[in-house]
Amino acid sequence: MAEPSPPRPLNDCFAADRDLMPLSHAIDLLQNRLIPLCGTHSLPLEQAQGAILAQDLVAMVTVPPHDNSAMDGYALAAASLAGANEATMPLPVIRRVAAGDPPGETVPIGTAVRIFTGAPMPPGTDTVIMQEDCTADASATAQGALGTVTVPTAIKVGNNRRLAGEDVEKGTVVLNVGRRLRGVDLAMAAATGHPIVPTRLPLRVALFSTGDELRPPGSVLTPGQIYDSNRYGVSGCLRAMGCDVTDLGALPDDRGLIEQAMRQAVGHHLVITSGGVSMGDEDHVRAAIETLGTLHFWRLAVKPGRPLALGSIGETVFLGLPGNPVAALVSLLIVGRPLIHRLQGRAPTPMVRYRLPAAFEFRKKAGRQEFIRAWIETDSQGCPQVQRFAAQGSGVLSSMVRAEGLVDIPADCTTIAPGDLVDYLPLTEALW
Ligand code: AMP
Ligand code: MG
Repeated sequence: MAEPSPPRPLNDCFAADRDLMPLSHAIDLLQNRLIPLCGTHSLPLEQAQGAILAQDLVAMVTVPPHDNSAMDGYALAAASLAGANEATMPLPVIRRVAAGDPPGETVPIGTAVRIFTGAPMPPGTDTVIMQEDCTADASATAQGALGTVTVPTAIKVGNNRRLAGEDVEKGTVVLNVGRRLRGVDLAMAAATGHPIVPTRLPLRVALFSTGDELRPPGSVLTPGQIYDSNRYGVSGCLRAMGCDVTDLGALPDDRGLIEQAMRQAVGHHLVITSGGVSMGDEDHVRAAIETLGTLHFWRLAVKPGRPLALGSIGETVFLGLPGNPVAALVSLLIVGRPLIHRLQGRAPTPMVRYRLPAAFEFRKKAGRQEFIRAWIETDSQGCPQVQRFAAQGSGVLSSMVRAEGLVDIPADCTTIAPGDLVDYLPLTEALW
């Protein structure tokens, strides 16, 4: 079993002096005091979905690399149809250029080229007229020759021509370091010539829940016991954020066993626990961390959330989530998420927020920022508005299930009336 390494500067990165800390301050501290812990490796594009980019990705080619046609039709010089150059109809069709063909020789004024979407614009042409607007000479086509075409004379120069480099110039940064790669990002990497991309290795997270009352689902409960739900909720969220999770199970409130699990967790980048970190007699997580490493409690000016435990054992960062299911999951989203992003080497990615009218009334005391469980519904006009779950207790797991997002209510706000604009944070987008 790995022994904790000697104290390093990282060990006290969670020291904080504020009595009641605003969430924004806590997020700044995480960003400024922690460093990415994940190493890097190159991944083929086929395996890079969801990975975090470890370096800026620079375009190796210009996209598109050549002027090309946006339509199936006929390419010509627009000057063929204007003023002194005006050609007589029909125009002879001198060549056929499909996607993948070379652009070929210069096209003389007064002639046209049969062209298809994606084909390079032949030199001498600047405009494509879509085939639906043209009349090809059917008899010639029937004989297999290219024949002639009659085109409308009122056209706009450059129509249906895609310019080289209109998407990306060679040498520009197309994807920034710290970005989590989605399918569309992989498309951009491919389009700019990258078969492999430099990425971060997954963040390795050890997870356990604590509490004598916890039993795994499937077992028979005796009075006083409940099923352990946090471990499943937290590990699901961690996996959605791209973490590699080691589930160390549910532990009883036993100092020795918790210490043993903590030692097992060393070697991971991060250990997350749920429960057992308040000041009660049965809270042994606190004692275990204090024995093995350092621990700090952050009192955030946020509801839900009790003091949040942050610390380290050697190079392993520790996050102790509250036991109450809603508090655990909300704390994971609002504090764990930025902490995880930082350790992953991901760029700061604040939760997406939409400003929408509230469909509810709400009152609270000033002084604490509050996150309430909510979803979007439509009003009688079909416009979006935010509805909230009635029971907002921090143990009400059904509120998290019904919720599709959180409403972020600022510390100084005390009342919300129907129609007031509120900040709505969708949960699905937060977990990606
Ligand atoms: P604690 O933080 O350990 O004092 O727990 C606070 C509340 O959350 C108690 O009601 C616990 O029973 C409950 N709780 C703690 N851990 C879990 C868990 N893993 N799953 C469900 N409920 C839990
Ligand atoms: Mg407990």
